[in-house]
Amino acid sequence: MKIIIPRLIISKLIEHSLIEDPNECCGYLMGSNNKVSHIFNCRNIHQSPVTRYALDPLDQMKAEKYADDNNLDILGIYHSHTLSQAYPSPTDVSNAVESGWIDPAYILISLVEKTRPIIRAFKITQDKKVEEMIIEHDGQAYISPTENS
Ligand SMILES: [Zn+2]
Repeated sequence: MKIIIPRLIISKLIEHSLIEDPNECCGYLMGSNNKVSHIFNCRNIHQSPVTRYALDPLDQMKAEKYADDNNLDILGIYHSHTLSQAYPSPTDVSNAVESGWIDPAYILISLVEKTRPIIRAFKITQDKKVEEMIIEHDGQAYISPTENS
């Protein structure tokens, strides 16, 4: 099991995490087959956003429409952990199973070390097993927007 996430999308995941820090950020990764091509940021509307996340239902609708309109699949659901490791919490696992969203990968970004964010991907199964997935880059070079200016 693997998911291909271009480095540009990886950098956007980290950026979204840092912008929302100390709150958790969340959103979707979209693409085809197992290769991510789009990131869709959502608002975290949970009442305790530092340790929990809840995707804004309006953003969820927009995301699903965007995916349909652009012939994309929702390949991943991401959120950040600002104070803990990049591993799904028991709550994350329960929420995944209860929401019925177990086809997409769960992408976790940990900001425990702010200068070295960690990103990991997991498959959560119906029987609440958590299996790590391999994240591959597609070799596409990441060019920092500020590098050439
Ligand atoms: Zn979590």
